Amino acid sequence: NFFVLEGIDGSGTTTQLNRVADLLLKNNIKIYKTYEPTRNKIGSFLRECLSSHLDLSERTYALLFAADRQEHVFGKNEIAEKLDQGNIVLCDRYLFSSLAYQGNKNDMDFVSSINSYFPLPEAVFFIDIDEKTALKRVASRAQKKDIFEEESFLLKVRKSYRTIFEHYKHNTDMEVIYINGNSEISNITNKIFNFIIKKI
Ligand code: C5P
Ligand code: MG
Repeated sequence: NFFVLEGIDGSGTTTQLNRVADLLLKNNIKIYKTYEPTRNKIGSFLRECLSSHLDLSERTYALLFAADRQEHVFGKNEIAEKLDQGNIVLCDRYLFSSLAYQGNKNDMDFVSSINSYFPLPEAVFFIDIDEKTALKRVASRAQKKDIFEEESFLLKVRKSYRTIFEHYKHNTDMEVIYINGNSEISNITNKIFNFIIKKI
């Protein structure tokens, strides 16, 4: 029972993470919600690098995201353990973010290979939104824009996500649920909620 939310910046994955978890809780279903980059040591360092536009090589960024993920999945009390204990896990961003974002800055083989050791979720919800609307939302946030939040780059990332998910759809058992990110917030929440309810 491992589920993932993906989408470009401003697509609303974090909003939906919280809304879906709340709705499940109202229905007496407890889930473990989490996100990447994490707030653990490596994830926090990574977020600092992103917001200060630290000039690291693209491979270094890809490795940092993967290192953060390694701890997030296999660390004590983290995803793998939670799943073993029978929890439902919902994660905001996962290795597909690395493929879509770092894959655009590096050769894809490098990024896929360092991410090939992580378990795939049962299903991923891809909240697809046009990059203009997404950027408007990002601009209205208080925090400073990070290095990836730029229109032409987000367009590339959006296209990569589609290619990546088509690949998984045809080559793995993982389910991919496309969601229109421009639709009403509560419709999106309900769609994800209903899917999870059916699966658990
Ligand atoms: O989702 P959130 O905005 O908190 O992510 C922080 C930044 O890291 C975003 O700009 C996101 O696009 C980027 N990111 C990335 N690769 C990942 C995960 C996030 O480039 N694997
Ligand atoms: Mg962001």
